[in-house]
Amino acid sequence: MGERDLLSGLVRLHILHHAAHEPIFGQGIMDELGHHGYKLSPGTLYPILHGLEKSGYLTSTTELVAGRQRRVYVITDAGREMLALGKTKVWELFRELFEDELRFSTRREADSMPPVSLGKASPDKR
Ligand SMILES: [Zn+2]
Repeated sequence: MGERDLLSGLVRLHILHHAAHEPIFGQGIMDELGHHGYKLSPGTLYPILHGLEKSGYLTSTTELVAGRQRRVYVITDAGREMLALGKTKVWELFRELFEDELRFSTRREADSMPPVSLGKASPDKR
């Protein structure tokens, strides 16, 4: 199992998260994911979007933007339910993955020390 398999659920949740806030489209979501360090090609992203639509989590329409057809996706009620479920799972996993850091952070706060950062912050590559 490769990196793509391991991260694909996170990518899908990320897409649902953004689609829950505003309509999304391929290039826009590719740029957004790129800012988070996910370098997806159109050949990877579009099947994911189509799959989310086929599963009923997204619905799409085509819009004419600057003379070109653009497929725009919005989240469905089923998508919002899946996002809510995903968020509880991510929250559970986050707490377990960062158990030590969270405990350490709480103790440091109690000692009025600056909070410890989670992992190394990657430089902004925008
Ligand atoms: Zn994002």
